[in-house]
Amino acid sequence: MLNKTGVPEKSLILSRFPDNVNLGKPKAITECYEPIPCNPCETSCPFDAITVGKDINTPPKVDFDQCTGCGICVYSCPGLAIIVAQIKEDQAFFKIAYEFSPLPEVGETVHAINREGNILGTARIEKVTLRKKQDKTALIDVSTSKDFLHEFVTIRRMS
Ligand code: SF4
Ligand code: SF4
Repeated sequence: MLNKTGVPEKSLILSRFPDNVNLGKPKAITECYEPIPCNPCETSCPFDAITVGKDINTPPKVDFDQCTGCGICVYSCPGLAIIVAQIKEDQAFFKIAYEFSPLPEVGETVHAINREGNILGTARIEKVTLRKKQDKTALIDVSTSKDFLHEFVTIRRMS
């Protein structure tokens, strides 16, 4: 399915998530499934929580015990293939990379979008970070229903 449509099957997606019980703290989810020569996720992580290893074609693996959910790998990944996910009560919180302009505003209601580009429901912009070192890739903190935990991948502004 991934090779035909670009959309990974559910089992593949779930393989990149820790157990829900471990998502009380934010953790990086790497949606990088194919062998490609790339490793900025590994080199950018200040906590050595992502390993690609000696063979740069190896898909990255996250050590959830080391990951603090800081989001540095999210805006460092050239493939926009990483999100940070967390569950708090009935809400899911994500950090996503965002390269569209204008940027959304804190408090704005946006569409929550799945991997097929379809609207799941609404989401709220919690924080927008764009520092010089991020090289024009903003880091957006967003909250939505925890029902979308394994489906949500990005946002779309309503206007
Ligand atoms: S979110 Fe932060 S700590 Fe976790 S893997 Fe990414 S860079 Fe490392
Ligand atoms: S930086 Fe992104 S695209 Fe490159 S290996 Fe890491 S997750 Fe994959």
